[in-house]
Amino acid sequence: MKQRLTVLGSTGSIGTSTLDVVRRHPDQFEIFALSAATQVDALLAQCQAFTPRYAVMASAAHAAQLADKLKQNNLKTEVLQAPDALETIASHAEVDTVMGAIVGAAGLAPCLAAARAGKRLLLANKEALVVGGALFMQTVKDHGCTLLPIDSEHSAIFQCLPEDRSTWAQRVHSIILTASGGPFRQRDPATLGQVTPAQACKHPNFSMGRKISVDSATMMNKALEVIEARWLFGMAPEQIRVVIHPEQIVHSMVQLQDSSILAQLGTPDMRVPIACGMAWPERISSGVAPLDFTQMAALTFEAADAVRFPGLHLSWQALKAPEGTTTVLNAANEVAVAAFLAERLPFDRIQAVNQATLAQLVPHERPASVAALLDLDAQARAVAAQIAQRWVV
Ligand code: NAD
Ligand code: MG
Repeated sequence: MKQRLTVLGSTGSIGTSTLDVVRRHPDQFEIFALSAATQVDALLAQCQAFTPRYAVMASAAHAAQLADKLKQNNLKTEVLQAPDALETIASHAEVDTVMGAIVGAAGLAPCLAAARAGKRLLLANKEALVVGGALFMQTVKDHGCTLLPIDSEHSAIFQCLPEDRSTWAQRVHSIILTASGGPFRQRDPATLGQVTPAQACKHPNFSMGRKISVDSATMMNKALEVIEARWLFGMAPEQIRVVIHPEQIVHSMVQLQDSSILAQLGTPDMRVPIACGMAWPERISSGVAPLDFTQMAALTFEAADAVRFPGLHLSWQALKAPEGTTTVLNAANEVAVAAFLAERLPFDRIQAVNQATLAQLVPHERPASVAALLDLDAQARAVAAQIAQRWVV
């Protein structure tokens, strides 16, 4: 039987890498539904290649454009409109596996719909977990969802951890997330105010979406990943550490009680963790060349510089604060990054917005429903947008 897949955010960096792996294994995977925000032509091309049952676009106007073009091309794919349709294609009875590759909190509701429907959920959309926190994990547990991490660090940790989860508390000492340090690891911190969006989006090793590229440059990406790891693996915040590893060959590590450390290594290409999640527990070819140790330069490691990357420690701070604080942090960061990408906020103020939003909005009660989470997200966005005004350029 083929696995029938819905790809949420199929036109993005993770979405297209996923379809690349699907293309290599037509005997094992079949595309049921695809989705994109606004990229009509890219989604049309994917519909031509994979003939899905459904294609979802974010607005009525984009949906109408896509429907027109599909008709001109004699394609039978039915076009639906987000946000409700994202939940439909994520939870549809004929779907086995959902790739969550939307960026930001916008992916929360469809990922939760997949979890509630007990799907196999391949999670790239880290913000969904940072926003959803305990509620997300409870939903996964209650509905028998198989949650497989796609973020390369979390895929590495998942592969290094003992198979039997009930042994982790006894056997596992800590986990060590590696971080590239991004494009500004060696730039004079005094000049970070002049960084342009183009510079921030030029990652040394990966070509990724614009939001995660900026997050990598500020290291908020790692902060989000610390929170993601806390939920995925049920670790205490102090069991999660970060080390800079610019070559991105070691994708992360698990330290056991006897000080043995297990690492997962590979060529830095997201098709490896994607193929791993798609086939788990089997293994399939990802299309990625393996490492050649005879050709490899040195692997280096260094501590993360707290002055250059003031956002990193916000993850531990938010995890120790009242539940819901990580939802606030994520929302503030999404607002600040969008303002930076629109050239309205200097790069070195992104963390100032995040920090000030956390200080101003402390959740009073635990968000116990999706509606409560989305409400807190909206409140935090409003606070962050107002704070960002202070530094508008
Ligand atoms: P991207 O910007 O390249 O793609 C995002 C996709 O989501 C696109 O298809 C876009 O059309 C869709 N989308 C965006 N906003 C939407 C909205 N409001 N509603 C519906 N659809 C929307 O992003 P990406 O780099 O592919 O990253 C996707 C997710 O995976 C992010 O959460 C990111 O943190 C995570 N991730 C990415 C990488 C990577 O190498 N790119 C690695 C690890 C984790
Ligand atoms: Mg990552």
